[in-house]
This record gives sequence, structure tokens and C-alpha cells, in this order.
Amino acid sequence: MPTDFATTHDKPLPQWRLSLPGRPLTGLTVLVIEDSRFASEAVRLLCLRSGARIRRADCLRSARRHLAAYRPAVIIVDLGLPDGDGATLIQDLHQAIPRVPVILGMSGDPDLADRALNAGADGFLPKPVESLAVFQQTILGALPPEARGSLLRALPDDMIQPDQAGLRDDLLHAAQVLSDASDTDAIEYIIGFLAGVARASRDPALGDAAAALARGDRENLAIDLTHLSCLVQDRLAQVAQV
Ligand code: CA
Repeated sequence: MPTDFATTHDKPLPQWRLSLPGRPLTGLTVLVIEDSRFASEAVRLLCLRSGARIRRADCLRSARRHLAAYRPAVIIVDLGLPDGDGATLIQDLHQAIPRVPVILGMSGDPDLADRALNAGADGFLPKPVESLAVFQQTILGALPPEARGSLLRALPDDMIQPDQAGLRDDLLHAAQVLSDASDTDAIEYIIGFLAGVARASRDPALGDAAAALARGDRENLAIDLTHLSCLVQDRLAQVAQV
């Protein structure tokens, strides 16, 4: 029998799901903690295609509220969240007994993989997360062997494409934070957020503007912020026309 390590809601991970090869994550609940609507929509589609149930939280506080109510089998934590560092939550989850069976870090910055793994994550998903095979294999690879079955074989390499509504929500969120940004924490948060949006939407100009703000000296802060705000407004106008 599986140990505590492999339980969800204190019941064993459902073994019958192994008979559903097209939906290898059937019976699992995935909690994704992600402030980007575009990225959380991508994870929702991947869960749907994999048979998993999804719950979503968009900040650390809401994640802790979810976790007080139920225990997911898989938790995916974005590292850059509006109210703090996802790595601190990963650390807490990793030390909790019983531990959530699968804890994954996620970020648009692949250099943060080590940060997630050092905090105790079982794996890391680089954003944008678009490949069904990468998503399923990362989760299956982190499951306890008895729950994994023989599913680590070639999976269909389908790509998912979230719709523009998620991108628009992200740009609106960025515009809001940028217009209210009054301290370095808020600016650092939005730099990371927009770098992720830029990667997901294949927008190098937006990524460059976020990077310029990240390394810019504080004398140019107002100019760099204005430039970034203009780009966000410009992208919002484009999305509205689609
Ligand atoms: Ca984020």
C-alpha cells in the first residue's frame, strides 16, 4: 500500500486512473498558484487534456486559504507572486507532514529552477508551459513509483494555446500595478510579471523593456517606467482589436 506520502485527502492515489492512458492524470487534483491569467489558463487547458481537476489561487494568501480546506495531489507554485516569493511556500509545503505528493515550481525565468529545487520542489516547469508531454511527464516523473504506473512512455506532443482573454487580463493587471507602483517591491514584481507575459506572448520588445527596467539605474526610472507603460497600453490596444 502507498504510504502517507502518496495520499490525497488521506486516501491512496486512485489506481484505476492507470487504465486511462489518454488521461494519465485522471483522479488527481492540481492546485496552481499563479498570478498570470494567461499562464493559469494554459495550466487549466493542460489539466483538462490530462484528466486532472484544477483549483487556482493567484497569490500566497489565497493559496494558504485553499490549503487549509483541502489537500491537492499536485501543487504548482509560480515563483513571482504579488504578495511574496513562491519559494517560501514551496519550503513550507516541503516540510509539512504529510507532504503534498508532488510540488513543482514554475517561472518564466529558467534560472530560477535551482531556487525552486533548493526550496524542496520535486521539479520545475519553465513558462510558457505549452507542451502536453512536458507537463504530463514532469508530474508523472515526480509521483511516487506505485502511483505512476507504466506511463512514462512517449506521450502525444500536443501544444496548447491559451486564448487572448488571458493575455488581456495580464496586460490590464500590469497596467494597474504600473499606475500604482510606488515602491521597489511593486516595481520588481511587475518587472518579473511582464517578463513572463513577454515570453508567453512572444513579444521581445516588451521583454527588452522589462529587462531595461530591471538593470536600469534609478535616475532613469521614470523614463523606463513610462516606456514600459506605453508598451503595455499599446499591447492592450492590439489585443482589443483581435
Ligand atoms: Ca508571476
